[in-house]
Amino acid sequence: MKSVAFHTLGCKVNAYETMAMEQSFREAGYEIVEFEGIADIYIVNTCSVTNIADRKSRQMLHKAKKNNPDAVVAAVGCYVQAAKEELLKDNAVDLVIGNNRKNELVSIVEEYIQDNARNNDIVDIAHTNEYEEMKLGTQTEKTRAFIKVQDGCNQFCSYCIIPYTRGRVRSRKLKDCINEITKLAGMGYKEVVLTGIHLSSYGVDLEEKVSLIDLIEAVNGIEGIERIRLGSLEPRIITETFTERLEKCYKVCHHFHLSLQSGCDATLKRMNRRYNSEEYFEKCKMLRERLCDTALTTDVIVGFPGETEEEFFETKSFLERVNFYETHIFKYSRRAGTVADKMENQVPDDVKSLRSDILLELDRKHQFEYNSSYLGRVMDVLFEEKDKLGDEEYYVGHTTNYIKVAVKSERDITNEIHAVSLVNVYKGRIVKGEIMS
Ligand code: SF4
Repeated sequence: MKSVAFHTLGCKVNAYETMAMEQSFREAGYEIVEFEGIADIYIVNTCSVTNIADRKSRQMLHKAKKNNPDAVVAAVGCYVQAAKEELLKDNAVDLVIGNNRKNELVSIVEEYIQDNARNNDIVDIAHTNEYEEMKLGTQTEKTRAFIKVQDGCNQFCSYCIIPYTRGRVRSRKLKDCINEITKLAGMGYKEVVLTGIHLSSYGVDLEEKVSLIDLIEAVNGIEGIERIRLGSLEPRIITETFTERLEKCYKVCHHFHLSLQSGCDATLKRMNRRYNSEEYFEKCKMLRERLCDTALTTDVIVGFPGETEEEFFETKSFLERVNFYETHIFKYSRRAGTVADKMENQVPDDVKSLRSDILLELDRKHQFEYNSSYLGRVMDVLFEEKDKLGDEEYYVGHTTNYIKVAVKSERDITNEIHAVSLVNVYKGRIVKGEIMS
């Protein structure tokens, strides 16, 4: 039996696609082995979001060849789209496959082994409008299933290479999404996470007139699915109609990740984001007013080119004003080929680190306050795994609004939903509780 090892860089969509590729190799009779060991085939699902991601992608490809010089090493994914010429010349890489043919990887690798001929196929991703159908029968997580429903992005934020590496918006047909989720529900999955590169654009390219809210309503009707989570949303999708329809989908978890990037309007403009801070604030208000116990999380970039001290503190004040549950803070990282990479007034690394530390401190405070505000409440928790807190073992899961909760239990309660009384906050980020029923 031939063995194959995978390594994934980058985002959740890449992780989903790696799982789908693993599954097709498993079904074709291959053994999936650790990337660190010896394999007959290595697949690196690359990322190209920053110059650092490019470097890591190259490193992992070279590492694979070093692990086993006789192995077939295949590069797939975003870095391939961004740097195909370079990869085609790289002796460590045998196959160079773009973002369009990940679903045919088994046959491409087998043809290569048989004929020892390179079959490098990288389409001009900017001009493809076909959604590459990849589906997952099984998932590695036991309780939560990730479903990719959309690919590509038309937004062209000035710091982002994704529209060039993943191409324009392509959505998966509604019936294909529903079929996959129905199958997963039949296998016992209770929670589904709808993901995509730019989820809010779901449906804009489809002939049938559907949008993200239509998809959510359809998933809400699937028997067996008890919770629906949404990947990162763009603030402009939040409208009165959207929230009104969302409110009726009782399975949707009231945790929304609304991508912010900056709370300063001048910085947002340079980033080519298509909203200002006031509009963003209104969207947060709308969600909180209509949907009870809403938790808002977000992403922020610090040290974007030209970000002055004043602009940075505007962002900090905005984060305080919205009072997010959790903020993912990224130091701006240059990416060749983007507009921002060529901007003047790049911010020095030490300034970025300082700004990041300030926001990390604020984030810890917000999380502690949010978690503390729920003490004494009884909330439903879906338990996902066993984990150690200090020396003791707990079952850990999340409430619908994404509070991480740990309880003690004599028996295995994984993939069960229980009402839990929230008792105290452990290290700011986890709430310890007691099962009520
Ligand atoms: S919305 Fe902006 S940051 Fe997100 S994928 Fe599209 S271009 Fe990149």
